[in-house]
Amino acid sequence: SSIFAAVEMAPRDPILGLNEAFNADTRATKVNLGVGVYFTDEGKIPLLGAVKAAEKTRIEAAPARGYQPIEGAAAYNNAVAALLFGKDSALLANGQTITIEALGGTGALKVGADYLKRLLPNATVYISDPSWENHRALFESAGFPVSNYAYYDAATRGVNFEGMLADLRQMPAQSIVVLHACCHNPTGADITAAQWEQVVAVIRERNLIGFLDMAYQGFADGIKEDAVALDLFAASGLQFLVSSSFSKSFSLYGERVGALTIVASSKEEAGRVMSQVKRVVRTNYSNPPTHGGAVVAAVLSSPELRQQWEDELAGMRLRIREMRKSLVEKLAARGVAQDFSFVIKQRGMFSYTGLTVEQVEKLKTDFGVYAVGTGRICVAALNTKNIDYVADAITAVLK
Ligand code: PLP
Repeated sequence: SSIFAAVEMAPRDPILGLNEAFNADTRATKVNLGVGVYFTDEGKIPLLGAVKAAEKTRIEAAPARGYQPIEGAAAYNNAVAALLFGKDSALLANGQTITIEALGGTGALKVGADYLKRLLPNATVYISDPSWENHRALFESAGFPVSNYAYYDAATRGVNFEGMLADLRQMPAQSIVVLHACCHNPTGADITAAQWEQVVAVIRERNLIGFLDMAYQGFADGIKEDAVALDLFAASGLQFLVSSSFSKSFSLYGERVGALTIVASSKEEAGRVMSQVKRVVRTNYSNPPTHGGAVVAAVLSSPELRQQWEDELAGMRLRIREMRKSLVEKLAARGVAQDFSFVIKQRGMFSYTGLTVEQVEKLKTDFGVYAVGTGRICVAALNTKNIDYVADAITAVLK
């Protein structure tokens, strides 16, 4: 019989499964608030002007398609590090950091996880409760036990910061703590700069390892403003890891452009770490693809294209903010008793609406409005054409 005869069907990815259901829905009024993708007011995934211009130049130059170095192109890696830490960062001047181009933020997390498993085989990984739905599976697939630390407080719709600190204080030394650098997915609830200082202090006290996941730089307050956690970690003298992604900030989802950055205690140490990270990459996908990274590097290194990109990113950030405000106003105008003003305070693409599983189900079956079962909606999928319909639908399921 077939070697696959007894293979069980794996459960569908909850969010990608939602997409399939959405695509199969024939209602013209359907709205997909499930996936974490930014759409324009026309409901389209944008191709940014800065990206288009850099691509045109690159295609006209018709570069050959040789292999990249295992770690990706230096121009890209240097541009990423400067974006994360600022171009005048002492860490960069000291050569204490290594950056490799990775296959999106997910690929960066996986290379980082595989490397950490070799470095600290007995460590436990802690992720926020709740977290991006792939964090747990990803670190488990690298061989780590994964536990939660307290994060979201449903009562305040903010962060249970005391609970978070208490959990950090309980962790065994050399545990790995995955932290959302900004725009927490799925809740939209971030901690303040002052709270980050306390987190860094406990990480130092308890001898923990921070792994900062930065998938939405520029979507809360700005490129520099959103890197406050990185700045504080950089100033701490601690060693830590950062996974970063241009999927959202450059709208380059399918090109898989991300990076893993590791901060070591010296240049010499960083060199040794790099040699080990390269082994992880070499036995996995060998070296990263060329196009997306080359485009990002070209945009970041050209003053004109960079300005254009920053303006376009600001446009996305502001449009999301407008949608948050508008949704709150429209729900209030429809006589919804519950105060939804927390939606305005949440940051990034998502909002944890507090809608129950039953209400989310009703949104889907009665209205063709698709949200995640946890009540997470992607605010970046709202637009001036669908927001009234969505507000009507939410009002109806709240009755
Ligand atoms: N980390 C977080 C918190 C995310 O929300 C996402 C994407 O949704 C990722 C990582 C993965 O990013 P990418 O699509 O670049 O792999």
